[in-house]
This record gives sequence, C-alpha cells and structure tokens, in this order.
Amino acid sequence: MAQPLIQVLERQAHLVWMALQATYPELRTYKVPKVGINNRLWKVAGYAYCEEHRVEFGSKFFGRYKPQMLLEIVPHELIHVADFIINGNDMTDGGHGIGWRNMMRAYGLEPNRYHNLHINKSDPIITAL
Ligand SMILES: [Zn+2]
Repeated sequence: MAQPLIQVLERQAHLVWMALQATYPELRTYKVPKVGINNRLWKVAGYAYCEEHRVEFGSKFFGRYKPQMLLEIVPHELIHVADFIINGNDMTDGGHGIGWRNMMRAYGLEPNRYHNLHINKSDPIITAL
C-alpha cells in the first residue's frame, strides 16, 4: 500500500540518524533533522540546510530512483548535518571535505559529491511510495 512520501522519508531519516548517533555520541543530544520535500528540484536530488538542522529532497527523483534516494541521498544529506555538528563549517568542495568524506565511508557509502540520478524537469511530482 502506498504511503505518503514525507512519512517514508521521515522514517528513513530517523533510521539513518539513529545509526549516525550510534557511531558518533556527539549527535545523541540532537534530534533527527527536519525533513522536507521540494517538488521543483530536478538537477540536485537533495539539500542540507545545516544551520537550520533540516534536509530537503526532490520528490521528482523518487519516480525513477526510489532505492538510491532512500539508501544514498538521504544519508548523504544527513551526514552533511552531522558533519556540521561534529566538525564545524568546512566548505571545502562545497561542504564535501575530509570530515564529510570520512563519515560517508564510515557509514558504508562512497563519498561522491555528485549523484548520477538523471530526471527530466517535466517528470511527475511524487507524493506517495
Ligand atoms: Zn552533498
């Protein structure tokens, strides 16, 4: 049965954040970052607003790339927030510096700055999965 996209994203963000908290005790006093959906994004799949402790994901990407979005892009953005908390504001490579890369590897992901998820601007807005 389909579930609202925001619910799926919030649950996934919760799981990823708990895993990060298990690895990095410094994060344990921080709630899971707020999750938002952006229906206009079609070039970048997600954003991290570290100072605001929130992340955002492009709904259109879920039509073609549900697994990659949940398993790679959600951790990618949350690790930006975690890196900001633990290592401070390092804007090397657009925020993809050594701290972020090490945390991505520790999580089990390749520290790729860019994704290869290609969609069209005209792709449908996804509201449920
Ligand atoms: Zn990034």
